[in-house]
Amino acid sequence: MRPLQHGTLTAFRYCKCEPCRTAKRAYMLAYMRRRRGPPRGLAPLPAHGQRARYQRGCRCPACKAAHTTYMQAYREEKRWQRAERREQIAAAHRRGQEKQEDGTV
Ligand SMILES: [Zn+2]
Ligand SMILES: [Zn+2]
Repeated sequence: MRPLQHGTLTAFRYCKCEPCRTAKRAYMLAYMRRRRGPPRGLAPLPAHGQRARYQRGCRCPACKAAHTTYMQAYREEKRWQRAERREQIAAAHRRGQEKQEDGTV
C-alpha cells in the first residue's frame, strides 16, 4: 500500500493530522462557496429604492425611503399586535366579571 500523501482529501479519510484537516477545510469552503454562488461582495447589488440595498449600506434618499416605509409598516404591525392583545385581555376580564356578577355560574 502506498504511503498516505498528507494534505489531501483522500488522506483525510484515514488521517486527521493538521495538513489533512486543512485540506478538508479548504475543500469544504470551496464546496460551500460553489453552493452559495458568488461571494457577497461580488454579487450584484439590489436596485436603489429597495430595503435590501439600504441594508447593504446605501443611504441614498430612495433607499432610505424604502427603509422608512418598511419600519413604519413594521411598527404599525407591532402596534396592531399589542392592541389585539390588549383587546383579548380586556375581553377575558369582561368575561370574568360577567361570571361574578351573574353569580349563577
Ligand atoms: Zn495527515
Ligand atoms: Zn441607494
